[in-house]
Amino acid sequence: MRPVPAAISLAGTAIGCMAWAVRGRSSDVFAPSVWRGKKGRNAIALTFDDGPGPGTADILEILDRHHAKATFFQCGENVQRAPQLSRMVSEAGHEIGNHSHTHSNCALRSAEFIMSDFARAQQAIADATGKFPALVRAPFGVRWFGFREMQQALNLHGVMWTVIGRDWKLPANEISKRVTETVSDGAIICLHDGRGLTPNPDISSTTGALRQIIPALLDRGYHFETVSQILI
Ligand SMILES: [Zn+2]
Repeated sequence: MRPVPAAISLAGTAIGCMAWAVRGRSSDVFAPSVWRGKKGRNAIALTFDDGPGPGTADILEILDRHHAKATFFQCGENVQRAPQLSRMVSEAGHEIGNHSHTHSNCALRSAEFIMSDFARAQQAIADATGKFPALVRAPFGVRWFGFREMQQALNLHGVMWTVIGRDWKLPANEISKRVTETVSDGAIICLHDGRGLTPNPDISSTTGALRQIIPALLDRGYHFETVSQILI
């Protein structure tokens, strides 16, 4: 086996560092963010990205049945398509965060684009619910140059996750297993009540998993808080 030349090895390391800087859950390189909440009171924060959409009402019904509050990181375009769903989420006492307007990957995008895309989502959510979000989650977890300034200008706290369900891809049982086997006190769980900007996505794997995850975690003595609550 030929040894890896030092320059290639160094390039590989640099790419790895950059990937972590951009997408790492604990990276503050491009913008500050949290990836877990406070420990010590058996609280878990459920979060749902990419909504609202036709499946959001099912998620609300499951949460309501268990008296659980959650946080929804919504996309402005989805909110404009279904403002009544956004309002329903807010009026049920859940928290709404900003997940951009167009669900674009911010890597290599201009600072102007990033500012405008998240500002549009802030306005769309405020138009639908009467409240400007205080939280932001980057699509694909990707932060880039300009993200920090955008967060400051729009007064947004960055939120990543402790556990991601990969619910856009896995069946319900596997999502549930992945989440319930990994969570601990203060965890922020990332699931999805939409699939990007797809107008009518099938989210049955997510709802199926949620029907298992909530009772399993309640049995273990956890309760559910919004992201803002779990950070205090
Ligand atoms: Zn997303």
